[in-house]
Amino acid sequence: MKIVDIRERTFPISSPIRNAYIDFSRMTLSLVAVVTDVVRDGRPVVGYGFNSNGRYGQGSMMRERFIPRVLETDPSTLLDGTGDNLDPAAVWAAMMRNEKPGGHGERSVAIGTIDMAVWDAVAKIEGKPLFQLLAERYGSGEPDRRIFVYAAGGYYHPGQDLAALQDEMRSYTDRGYTVVKQKIGGADLDTDRRRIEAVLDVLGPGQRLAVDANGRFDRATALRYAEVLAPYDLFWYEEPGDPLDFALQAEVAAVYDPPLATGEDLFSMQDARNLIRYGGLRRDKDWLQFDCALSYGLVEYVRILDMLREHDWSPTRCIPHGGHQMSLNIAAGLGLGGNESYPDLFQPFGGFPDGVVVEDGYITMPDLPGIGFEGKADLYSLMADLAG
Ligand SMILES: [Mg+2]
Repeated sequence: MKIVDIRERTFPISSPIRNAYIDFSRMTLSLVAVVTDVVRDGRPVVGYGFNSNGRYGQGSMMRERFIPRVLETDPSTLLDGTGDNLDPAAVWAAMMRNEKPGGHGERSVAIGTIDMAVWDAVAKIEGKPLFQLLAERYGSGEPDRRIFVYAAGGYYHPGQDLAALQDEMRSYTDRGYTVVKQKIGGADLDTDRRRIEAVLDVLGPGQRLAVDANGRFDRATALRYAEVLAPYDLFWYEEPGDPLDFALQAEVAAVYDPPLATGEDLFSMQDARNLIRYGGLRRDKDWLQFDCALSYGLVEYVRILDMLREHDWSPTRCIPHGGHQMSLNIAAGLGLGGNESYPDLFQPFGGFPDGVVVEDGYITMPDLPGIGFEGKADLYSLMADLAG
């Protein structure tokens, strides 16, 4: 078998929202199709992938470097031991040929997106859901189909008042979510405090709020917010300072007792390891948000999980950023603590297969081959168009 083509198309996912750092008025993403010569049900198997929101489309880099390297590699060297399927690690190594170490953000999104499509193809060729394949290859053998998900929203919308913010959050809890997230750091502290208290006012028993500063704060501001946030019993305080400022992260952890979360802007095992080594995070309460679609894909994510085990961290502390079905499969197959979800944003890319509902903060993964994109009609129509 072999890969016969890899296609990319860049899509706008623009919206008027903003967080503490960026607006999404010109946001794009890359959709990728990995076309194989394997035939299932009378059609060639095609794997699909896309990158998470917050980074931009990666088509030119893919076309200049990563796609040609895969297509120019002897196809027999990209196969697993059976010779009947792709070896994602071999495809990954082909993409990384002639790449220096370090500087991960430059290419990790492009490679992670293609890697997602390769895994989708691999699981489809085996005729099983990716979460099942992952549980058999790297996990306990038994996936846990029930996955915790939280609703990420609460962005700064132009003209949105507190009542509208409350309506937004109520709409998430009405849909079955038990944890909701809102942005902080895009306004002054008093405004943010009013926004937080407005949301807490509409949460019921067993419902929790997380807040996300998107890496905006300097040291003094991060610590000031830590002091103000501590009494609110938040689900977590996310990315207070620059994602690579591990000393600041450790300083916040030393004074802020409730849970912290970070990691979505760390794009390699090595960066994740530095966070674990130097970020002062606590194994029993803090959350890790590494997102495979931004950070070299699942081949690298498996390395991150191995690194965490070596440092006595459980995979249950991982709740990835991004809200895509790839991380749902990893959560179900490899025992992560859950996944982000954007109930109303970045459609049709985010979200769950059609018919999947949130119940008491959890979804249950359906039986679909591969990642499960074929079960989401609006998304799959874009994918099918790209595959031709
Ligand atoms: Mg975030």
